[in-house]
Amino acid sequence: MGEPTSEVWVHAVASLALAWAMGLRGRWLVLAIGAGLAPDLDHLPIPGLVARGTTTNLLVLAVLPTAAYLVARARGASPAAVRFLAALPVVFLGHVVLDLLPVPPGGATASAALFYPFDARKYTVPADHLAFARTLPVLVGVLALFLLAILALGHRALAARRGLVLALALVAVLPLAAAAGAVAPAPGRVNALVGIDRASYDAASGRIAVVVRHEIGATATIASLTVEAIAGNERLAVRHNPDRLAPGEAWILELVAGRGLDPSELVVRVLGRDGHIFAARSVEASS
Ligand SMILES: [Zn+2]
Repeated sequence: MGEPTSEVWVHAVASLALAWAMGLRGRWLVLAIGAGLAPDLDHLPIPGLVARGTTTNLLVLAVLPTAAYLVARARGASPAAVRFLAALPVVFLGHVVLDLLPVPPGGATASAALFYPFDARKYTVPADHLAFARTLPVLVGVLALFLLAILALGHRALAARRGLVLALALVAVLPLAAAAGAVAPAPGRVNALVGIDRASYDAASGRIAVVVRHEIGATATIASLTVEAIAGNERLAVRHNPDRLAPGEAWILELVAGRGLDPSELVVRVLGRDGHIFAARSVEASS
């Protein structure tokens, strides 16, 4: 429902890589790319569909395709078809993991209702946990290791089944990740780390020059951040971000606090829509 999807090409490339590692070739690879995009069908503007919910959950993306694989194998389906069905949960899970990460080009939302329809809450990887990894290359490295692990497990005929086991192990690890706080219900604010680089007060003009920096996480949509100047319990000035703020970007602004104030009593804070304080910094007197 209007929520941004991760970029299509990211899902296409990830699906291709995972399917290839699972031993798929030829037209099965094309089918796998299509399957890797299918979870985004719930973004279609059709009444009743919940974006990042209806087709982006573990029941639809892990349990059902695994059951289909087991049934097909038991009924003696062709090896190519069985291999494709084994690859489906892996390709699907690759999509979900990308949807959960609040990093570009994952979009501003970066969450999914993993346990839909039993639990409608959207889950995400909180930005403070992401800060542990700090950089996208680390996350890409994890994906590459996953691919290598599948490849190292054996020849092509076995890659599918063993890859599927790995994927299901990943699902089993989710409760552990949740217990450690690495996967959590999405907060009611932009899932990011935001800091204040500078806050200096000019007594003559009464203005505080502020530099807010987006450090890591999802892009902040317009007016999702509030910067305020306070003195004690009194709010002197407030601004909302007039533009989107992406990771690595700075937002330079001025707050009109009033002339002749004691800078040692001034504090600048950045808040989210839910009142969460991203950062607070005492103000320096500008020279
Ligand atoms: Zn998606």
